[in-house]
Amino acid sequence: MGVTHLDSDIQYLKGVGPNLARYIRMLRISTIRDVLYHFPRDYEDRTRQATISSITSTDPVVVKGRITSVSSQRLRGGKVRINATLEDGTGAIELIWFNQPWIARKLQEAQDQMITAYGTPKLGQYYWQITSPQIQEVGPEDDESQGIVPIYPLSEGVSQWHVRKVSALACTHFADQLEDKLPKTMLDHFGFPSIPQAIRSLHWPESLEEAENARRRLVFEEFLSLQLAFQIKRRQIKQEAGIRFPLDELQESPQVPPGSLFADSDAPADLWQQIAAIFPFEFTSAQRRVVEEIWGDMKYPYPMNRLLQGDVGSGKTAVAASAMLACVRCGYQAAIMAPTEILAEQHYIDLSHQFESAGVTVDLLVGKMGARKRKKAMANASLGISNIIVGTHALIQEDVEFKKLGLVIIDEQHRFGVAQRAALRRKAKENPDVLVMTATPIPRTLSMTFYGDLDVSVIDELPPGRTPIKTYLRNPAERSTTYAQVKQMLDRGHQAFFVCPLISESDAMQAQAAEDLHYRLSSKDFKEYSIGLLHGGMKAEEKDQVMEAFRKAEHQVLVSTTVVEVGVNVPNATVMVIEDANRFGLSQLHQLRGRVGRGSVQSFCILIADPTNKEAERRMQVMTETTDGFRIAEEDFRLRGPGDIAGTQQSGFAGFDFADLSRDTDMIEVAKQAAIKVIESDPELKHEHNKGLKELLRSRLSEKALISVS
Ligand code: ADP
Ligand code: MG
Repeated sequence: MGVTHLDSDIQYLKGVGPNLARYIRMLRISTIRDVLYHFPRDYEDRTRQATISSITSTDPVVVKGRITSVSSQRLRGGKVRINATLEDGTGAIELIWFNQPWIARKLQEAQDQMITAYGTPKLGQYYWQITSPQIQEVGPEDDESQGIVPIYPLSEGVSQWHVRKVSALACTHFADQLEDKLPKTMLDHFGFPSIPQAIRSLHWPESLEEAENARRRLVFEEFLSLQLAFQIKRRQIKQEAGIRFPLDELQESPQVPPGSLFADSDAPADLWQQIAAIFPFEFTSAQRRVVEEIWGDMKYPYPMNRLLQGDVGSGKTAVAASAMLACVRCGYQAAIMAPTEILAEQHYIDLSHQFESAGVTVDLLVGKMGARKRKKAMANASLGISNIIVGTHALIQEDVEFKKLGLVIIDEQHRFGVAQRAALRRKAKENPDVLVMTATPIPRTLSMTFYGDLDVSVIDELPPGRTPIKTYLRNPAERSTTYAQVKQMLDRGHQAFFVCPLISESDAMQAQAAEDLHYRLSSKDFKEYSIGLLHGGMKAEEKDQVMEAFRKAEHQVLVSTTVVEVGVNVPNATVMVIEDANRFGLSQLHQLRGRVGRGSVQSFCILIADPTNKEAERRMQVMTETTDGFRIAEEDFRLRGPGDIAGTQQSGFAGFDFADLSRDTDMIEVAKQAAIKVIESDPELKHEHNKGLKELLRSRLSEKALISVS
């Protein structure tokens, strides 16, 4: 056998016999490097060592002595209780375990050997007792493992003894062979330990602070790799040739005289005037700011790559329309892709209405339209007759062509995969500008980790005159009074949504649930009202008819699945009833609620639920307390963790091994700044001292961690 190295099998680690190796392999650890990267989940503080006779309180202690007796006892219900007595010359203490029969065997073997036991003592009938202590054999080489001792994640049959023994050997003899990926100057700058030191500190620290500092170094490294990837990506995008939309040259009137209203704004005043003529409302200052940011990007000769975040109802469509107007005025076409036909049609209706007087042609392209209509829309797109094309996935079908596509907008971007977004982008002959929009706000720190390669614009203000929606939680037992209240609203000429319980991912079963609710309401509780039904299993024309009837107030009630979640805009609908609301996640509830409260009249959201667990209860509470999408996103994040946040699955985001996003958020910014500095001075990581960073980056890129619109 050659020389043992980091990637050698653990059996070549001196001091590890075949038996021990077999145990360690049960943890899916095969090489010495794996051992070094199998980190403790916690530590045992053995600086709290005490003699048994000196124990007087329930503070955690470590006692050291010999096992003098072991017994197992079967309890009622089949549990097994193990009792052992440990003596240290000053007294005896009782150690107790439940249901860990292998401990009994271990203890039998360890009789007459020195062991330590760590845990929280409690005064029993005769002795002090420790239940489920951490125990460790004290061998000659364990003498150094006093102080802080690691507690490893285990699997059945493997003990702390096993892992500690192997990790101590690996740390002593092999940690120094680990190569640091971070340049020395960076380590010094942040006061981080070198990688061999960090790994040793994580396994066998002198103090808990030392272990934490080592962990933070690894967290930094992890964030840094992602931020480096983002910075490189951004740099590449800014070097690609894009379209330079000559927005400043659009002004028909001669140069604005100095000192006038628009003098210090580099925005084309003419476009703002056109917008004022198109929209029946004034833009909020947040909308104006965001539009300027987008136009700013459009004027530059490299492709825009921007994310627009704005809560439900914040007016993203008007912002998108402003971007499209600018694009069209420069002689290009714009396309906007929405995840559902309902939403695409909604946009089509709004946009074609708004742009009619401006002489801008809008066309619709969705999957299930008739062959003739579809052909016409496609011809319009490819001949350049349409200025704006609104559609669904139908837009990215192979046979769809555009004459001169310059701007691509993706609504509810998290509903699309990377490939779909890219496919639309490729429909353009030049590199188009790309704007992706989302109504699922995510906490700022998270957007830095998930969307770090994008520029982000945020609409953080709702249009004025909105009365905040009132949200109530109602027990299913109160259904009849709840329904009576809904009827009062209907009788005043308002409309209501009913969202059926979420029973399954399957469209067919969800359709059934909607039909059931529709049947119950129309044959019983609401039989004197007109009730529409909307679900994903319906044909496109049927859906259209129902939506159209609801829009025209021919239906007073619309029973629906979550297909109404997205984008439906019926200002006269003021009541949203969500059946079995506890089954929905927070962001989904927030989206559903956003379907009402779109006019100036007081709107209501009624959550019918009997939350049976703490988390569901908390969700209902959050919903009744706030309508702020960013607060809801924070809560959602807190309750479910980042892995479940909408959009992260689709983004291919691989998650972190060390970082805990709820605890290490400050480190993201630190890593980002560090990445910016590195890439500024060495954009392609060519310098010798950045070699490690290049490797780090390569491992991260292979995880396809980047969400990207390009
Ligand atoms: P979302 O951001 O959820 O896509 P929309 O763009 O659908 O929001 O806008 C919601 C509603 O608010 C629409 O009816 C739209 O016409 C209206 N709206 C948008 N901006 C303003 C504004 N500045 N003032 C008044 N109403 C506005
Ligand atoms: Mg929208």
